[in-house]
Amino acid sequence: MFKNFQSVSKCAYGRGSFDKLGEIIAPKRSENQGYFIFLIDHYFEDKPDFHKRIPAESNDVVEFIYTSGEEPKTSQIDELRDRFLQSKGLPAGVIGIGGGSIMDIAKALALMFTNEGSSVQYQGLNLIKKPGVYHVGVPTISGTGAEVSMTAVLTGPTKKLGLKCDWTVFDQIILDPDLIATVPKNQWFYTGMDTYIHCVESMTGQYKNTFSEAYGYKAIDLCKEVFLYEGSGQNPLNDEKLMVASYFGGLSLTYSEVGVCHALSYGLSYVFGTRHCFANCIIFPHLEEFYPEGVKEFKQMVEKNDIFIPKNLSQTWQEQEVEKMIDVCWALTHMWKHALGDDWEKKLTREKLKELYYRM
Ligand code: NAD
Ligand code: ZN
Repeated sequence: MFKNFQSVSKCAYGRGSFDKLGEIIAPKRSENQGYFIFLIDHYFEDKPDFHKRIPAESNDVVEFIYTSGEEPKTSQIDELRDRFLQSKGLPAGVIGIGGGSIMDIAKALALMFTNEGSSVQYQGLNLIKKPGVYHVGVPTISGTGAEVSMTAVLTGPTKKLGLKCDWTVFDQIILDPDLIATVPKNQWFYTGMDTYIHCVESMTGQYKNTFSEAYGYKAIDLCKEVFLYEGSGQNPLNDEKLMVASYFGGLSLTYSEVGVCHALSYGLSYVFGTRHCFANCIIFPHLEEFYPEGVKEFKQMVEKNDIFIPKNLSQTWQEQEVEKMIDVCWALTHMWKHALGDDWEKKLTREKLKELYYRM
């Protein structure tokens, strides 16, 4: 299958590289109305030492965004875009500093500044008409690979689907492992496991290839050093490893496709609002028949780090909720084609999906 991938244009990696942000964006300052928007995870709002490090100038806007509730929404992007355009005009660029949520908001907002109407109409592949404004990603939690991916995942009125095109990809990313040191342990694990699961899935299925395997094997090795082997746990060296694992996992996925866990996960997130990485961790332990080795290792990592993964959730689910999850899950044909083959519809039934959901 022919694919031609857009990469992140520039990447700064290393401890302390965040402090180069001002210097990095300076050449772009004169573009459009000459101001930058800094979208920053709310975790940093009451951290004065961090504020001092944000290279905002007087004309810039610093906006802290709450990310602990719902995942990014199309209405949220439209509101931000309309508000900034009205008050200050077209920005020189958007800088996202945070986790997957902020990465996706920054990517989507940059695109929506130059594409008219609601972001709802652009949910899908190559629907965006024009390049967005300059955008920079600075991850503060690692695992989703959103810093390197071609998509900005948004929940809209009828679907959870990304704005996916070449222009979605960041112009610049800054990978500074210092920034992820404060992530709470459970969140560190859930988000970290997203990259592990991306790799297991991208490397098991018909679209796998040497590119996706090369990135995937390395990212899985790094995950095992961070979450399983002697020396595992949250520490500065492992922060460096996890940050690179997230990036490589994102690339492994870009060159291939996700699979069964992500298909089921989208259903769960859509119906119950379960956050992406947490949803994956709920589902993955039940998928031995698809990913025997990956599931075995995942369980060891859960145990080693003493992580809470909820069980028996399905006991309280209503029949219509399960049917809706199956609808959402079934519609992800590209994931099923990858995981089960072109004749996936002969191998999978709605009954099977129901049985899988009821394992949770
Ligand atoms: P997140 O951005 O949702 O943040 C999770 C929590 O961690 C928040 O409460 C946040 O405040 C906190 N946090 C972030 N950085 C912190 C730090 N340094 N110290 C302390 N707390 C910190 O987390 P996530 O798991 O990275 O992102 C999930 C989102 O990513 C979902 O919306 C999902 O849809 C999206 N996603 C996107 C892609 C993509 O390719 N675009 C891929 C996978 C997931
Ligand atoms: Zn994922």
